[in-house]
Amino acid sequence: MAGKGDELVFAPLGGVGEIGMNLAVYGFGEPHRRKWIAVDLGVSFGGDDLPGIDLIMPDIRFLVEERRNLLGLVLTHAHEDHFGAVLDLWPRLKVPVYATPFTAALLEAKRHGEPGAPEVPVTIVPPGGRFSLGPFDIELVSVAHSIPESNGLIIRTPLGTVLHTGDWKIDPTPVLGPPTDEGKLRALGNEGCLALIGDSTNAVREGRSPSEMEVAKTLAELIRTAPGRVAVTTFASHVGRLRSVARAAAACDREVVLVGRSMERITQVARETGYLEGIQEFRSADVFGYLPPDKVVALCTGSQGEARAALSRIAEDDHPEVSFSPGDRVIFSSRAIPGNEKAVMRVINGLVERGIEVITDRDHLVHVSGHPRRAELLDMIGWVRPQILIPAHGEALHMSAHAALARRAGVPTVITCRDGDLVRLAPQPGIIDELPAGRLYKDGALLIGSEGRTVADRRRLGFVGIVTVALTLSHKGELVAGPRVELTGIPDADAAGTPMIEIAHEALLGAFKSMPQPRRRDPDAVAEALRRAVRSAINSVWKKKPICHVHVLTV
Ligand SMILES: [Zn+2]
Ligand SMILES: [Zn+2]
Repeated sequence: MAGKGDELVFAPLGGVGEIGMNLAVYGFGEPHRRKWIAVDLGVSFGGDDLPGIDLIMPDIRFLVEERRNLLGLVLTHAHEDHFGAVLDLWPRLKVPVYATPFTAALLEAKRHGEPGAPEVPVTIVPPGGRFSLGPFDIELVSVAHSIPESNGLIIRTPLGTVLHTGDWKIDPTPVLGPPTDEGKLRALGNEGCLALIGDSTNAVREGRSPSEMEVAKTLAELIRTAPGRVAVTTFASHVGRLRSVARAAAACDREVVLVGRSMERITQVARETGYLEGIQEFRSADVFGYLPPDKVVALCTGSQGEARAALSRIAEDDHPEVSFSPGDRVIFSSRAIPGNEKAVMRVINGLVERGIEVITDRDHLVHVSGHPRRAELLDMIGWVRPQILIPAHGEALHMSAHAALARRAGVPTVITCRDGDLVRLAPQPGIIDELPAGRLYKDGALLIGSEGRTVADRRRLGFVGIVTVALTLSHKGELVAGPRVELTGIPDADAAGTPMIEIAHEALLGAFKSMPQPRRRDPDAVAEALRRAVRSAINSVWKKKPICHVHVLTV
């Protein structure tokens, strides 16, 4: 029963307004005395605008503060944008984690691959299972997606029921796992659904996403007709797709060779959890060279153009075990995640230049998205008939399309929010507050705040250089040694051919001499005057302002 003053609230702390680093929280109770659950804890990937940063994670300051009231973390599925931050951030929360067997097994496998990663205690919930966390009664609902055991969450509370869809699509023939559980969703609609928080990724795309079965047929045909070697690259976690490739290979008497560490790791987990039952044993990359070209299909990592992954190395003919020749066929059973297009094109061009045939989803139906298009979104709204719809899992464009679609479909209340918005779902829905939210960067082994200078400095270093100056002054302010000048990332000479180092020297000595004697005894004043002088001298010939460090020692 709901008490007087109780509220049901929702806040996205990641994944709304961006695709990636999903983290949602639900709270129940009186303001300031709420109990919370968190759903998913994912990463996004750094692009060219974040030099040196591979992973971005949600800032969990709020959850750390509320740790005592946080009842658990529920994972919807094992995609990196939903569970990729667990190993890094769980030690700050130490809350119980709930996941289905495949997700738990993949987390465990990941932990083994990362020395020092924490042992995260996971409570296993079967697909379709139900459990309670304080005022939250949580039931999993199976949905079709692009990894085994994807779940939506039906979250029942004394103030109403929420459907948190997670990532989903409608696929009547998903190749692996059950189709989206329409029966359970329709039953939820009959029972009454207060709010639907849903996947907006493909809300701008008309119609329905084709079935995984169609992809399987195309792959079978392309593998059957290939004249020589075949490589297929896809996300290793797309076990349904791996099955389709394996079936196609078996049908024409080809062996499947795994190339790339994550391919090996995930297929092992898939075997252990029963998702490769009835599928032939896979071979490791070291046998590739011994197999005749028409007897092999290589399943490769690197569908996103990752420089160190198997396919990039094959494209550069730099793989120790696997090499392809003119006339061989490479199939991209994938699509580039926004931001990775250039890297993928580099790999494709590398292959094409070497005479290897490249097939992508531009030529054939070799990939489908795991997210719902507009007709599927309408089906979902029709099944559960929510009072409130909140678009999630998308950039602004996707979410506004999802919102407009929901309004047109007659959903009474549609709320678009941003990361950090605290949305009251009941009573009286609306955005009521803002929670601390932001991003953390994984920089080498460290997690750093995104507001700090580190990455901004690094970005600046990407287009200007550094002048480093060192000199020694006596206590009277006489120059005892130096200045020594070092230039990093700065052209050697100006347009007339004068060495840049000379220009710097002259500016430094000139500035020093023009300082009145008493001022020269102040090392800080000297450093500042020299910094300005050298920066301006280099700027006058280069038209770019370098970063300058001046070190003044005194004896
Ligand atoms: Zn997903
Ligand atoms: Zn996702």
